[in-house]
Amino acid sequence: ELDDIKGHIVFDQVQFSYDEDRIALHEISLEMKPGQTVALVGHTGSGKSTIANLINRFYDPTKGAVKIDGVDLRDVKLDGLRQNISVVLQDTFIFSGTIMENIRFGRPDASDEEVIEAAKVVGADDFIQRLADGYETEVEERGNILSAGERQLLSFARALLANPKIIILDEATASIDTETEVKIQNALKKLLKGRTAIIIAHRLSTIRDSDNIIVLEHGRILEQGDHDEL
Ligand code: ATP
Ligand code: MG
Repeated sequence: ELDDIKGHIVFDQVQFSYDEDRIALHEISLEMKPGQTVALVGHTGSGKSTIANLINRFYDPTKGAVKIDGVDLRDVKLDGLRQNISVVLQDTFIFSGTIMENIRFGRPDASDEEVIEAAKVVGADDFIQRLADGYETEVEERGNILSAGERQLLSFARALLANPKIIILDEATASIDTETEVKIQNALKKLLKGRTAIIIAHRLSTIRDSDNIIVLEHGRILEQGDHDEL
């Protein structure tokens, strides 16, 4: 069981194939220590999302094992695992409903005050207050009244409220202005504090601030280290 987890992630010689013809990951070994921010970088198809998929146990390794706090994920109940992991996707999942409902998504029992507090911490409260009906503003499925940066802040508020030990973040590639970029970086610092974070990183600012950068190429680790070492 994973009840009170630390968020220590180990890949022990993990090989993985989606199909018989091609190997997506070649016997990868890596460690993500509790509280660390790990950036995954590499060209398209290098295996970044595959690593995230295995941590979330969307698939099991073909060989080797993925472990959290020393426990093979095959021996972990999925509910418990998913309660401890939040995934913040590039294309933030927004459903039709109010902003309040969208942030509350990962923690249905959260009070309005807790939702607003989470939005404040990540700096989303400002733009929400400016919407026609504030937190009660209705958004469409694609979140079309929100900018890319605002959607990202909304997803951070949602993840913060869910309070997971592990966060997997697929960073948005959409270009955003410098001001929004600063807001997002500040929000990220608050969101990631005290959690193990795996970021599929596209922004230099994120990569620079990571404790460990893993460079993938064709399903292998090409090199790893912090920004000064690489
Ligand atoms: P990107 O930067 O484009 O998101 P990535 O580094 O996340 O790339 P992965 O999605 O991990 O790359 O893909 C690794 C390899 O696995 C690629 O060769 C890809 O074609 C293959 N692959 C990914 N998802 C699937 C799938 N669902 N079925 C079959 N093959 C897949
Ligand atoms: Mg990917």
